[in-house]
Amino acid sequence: MATPRCREDRPGRAATGREGSRLTKKLFIRTYGCQMNVYDSGRMAELLAPLGYAPAEAADGADMVILNTCHIREKASEKVYSELGRLRPLKARRADAGEEMIVAVAGCVAQAEGEEILRRSPVVDIVLGPQTYHRLPEMVARATRAAPGRGIVATDFPIESKFDHLPAARTADGPSAFLSVQEGCDKFCTFCVVPYTRGAEFSRPVAQVVDEARRLVAGGAREIVLLGQNVNAYHGAGDAGDVGLAGLIRTLADIDGLTRIRYTTSHPRDMDAELVAAHGDIPELMPFLHLPVQSGSDRILSAMNRRHTADDYRRTVARLRAARPDIALGSDYIVGFPGESDAEFQATLALVREVGFAQAYSFKFSARPGTPAAALDDTVPAAVADARLAALQALLAQQQDAFNAATVGSELDVLLERPGRHPGQLVGRSPYNQAVHVAAPAALLGHELRVAISHVTSHSLAGVEAGTPDARAIA
Ligand code: SAM
Ligand code: SF4
Repeated sequence: MATPRCREDRPGRAATGREGSRLTKKLFIRTYGCQMNVYDSGRMAELLAPLGYAPAEAADGADMVILNTCHIREKASEKVYSELGRLRPLKARRADAGEEMIVAVAGCVAQAEGEEILRRSPVVDIVLGPQTYHRLPEMVARATRAAPGRGIVATDFPIESKFDHLPAARTADGPSAFLSVQEGCDKFCTFCVVPYTRGAEFSRPVAQVVDEARRLVAGGAREIVLLGQNVNAYHGAGDAGDVGLAGLIRTLADIDGLTRIRYTTSHPRDMDAELVAAHGDIPELMPFLHLPVQSGSDRILSAMNRRHTADDYRRTVARLRAARPDIALGSDYIVGFPGESDAEFQATLALVREVGFAQAYSFKFSARPGTPAAALDDTVPAAVADARLAALQALLAQQQDAFNAATVGSELDVLLERPGRHPGQLVGRSPYNQAVHVAAPAALLGHELRVAISHVTSHSLAGVEAGTPDARAIA
């Protein structure tokens, strides 16, 4: 499974693995935003399977459409309203034919805008926040009976009960599976909507996570990506008290058949000594860490309420590299935060140059309603923010290319996840989270293969099975 973060919307399938003969209705889920939404979409599909809904590839002809939304930046929420506009004629056509199309808006836009969505888009039947989707079957039943225009809104915050009421059976959707272990956030960075849309920090109990991980592995997963808005703040209840993320990873690493563990997204302040040590001594913990820093300027970091300095970040990276010298790093950056001066932006570039990132994402500041930063008036002109974003992205792309190029000539273990675009080609991930293309029989899907990296393609690698005398690499 590719693991893009918060970058794209993903159409379609949220496989449940429980498609059976009773499934007669079509369910189309469009997922926007982060991996946690991808996880949630999968679980919503599982919840609806017993009601007869099977995953569909398109909204046209679907009995139910769920838009699982993201509110992190303005563009993300506007996309939802455009999509609702496109659904209107599809729903009207089905109504003319005497057929139903239930439209639900889930996720963080639903949480943030609630009733407003029904007002702006009467096509919507259900608005449900991220902490209420375990009640989806009941809401669908109510929506089916409700008079047109009587939408249902569920935006309360019972995170605990959500996980307690999700179906236990889970089948992996491939060799790499997401598993949410933590939700919500108490950090309140001044630019971020997450504490308002996902609620207070909550960690699932260890036993519940281990149980879900075992089911995923039994269903074919070889890699598990532990998810949380602030995953390294994890402190789930264990047999002898609270367990941190490092302890959870140690327990999961003992599961037979689980060969790779990753976690995302982390906050630099929660990178404690135990977790750093885990990177040095748990072979299953992959040597890639996404550790967002947002800015290289202490004044901006403070205005963002990140509660660490650029030097704190440098020290954390040094500790990680001491524990695991080959660890590759990822990060997130925001440029154009209100009041950001050119010198402060230069401090960000300096930090990037000094640390060196294998993969990183950067965004222009987007004022989110209700967040403290949205009230700041010292806004950076759009053209300046655009130029800064372009400069930062050029530097990050250069670093990514250099990191990838440095692996040419080496051998990497690749977990083969899906067929490639060319016949006979498979695509997988290296330990450093790079996409790798290789010619290999389909029977190897779901297995790790040692690959000799022969060349770099755009943001990915290509190679041949190690030990193959003169096999050709396929780009
Ligand atoms: N919890 C993670 C952390 O502490 O870094 C980040 C989670 S957030 C869902 C993903 C990324 O979106 C952030 O790291 C930040 O770079 C970006 N982001 C969040 N709010 C933003 C905003 N208002 N404008 C621009 N980018 C934003
Ligand atoms: Fe948002 Fe991450 Fe800050 Fe929490 S720690 S408020 S999720 S950016």
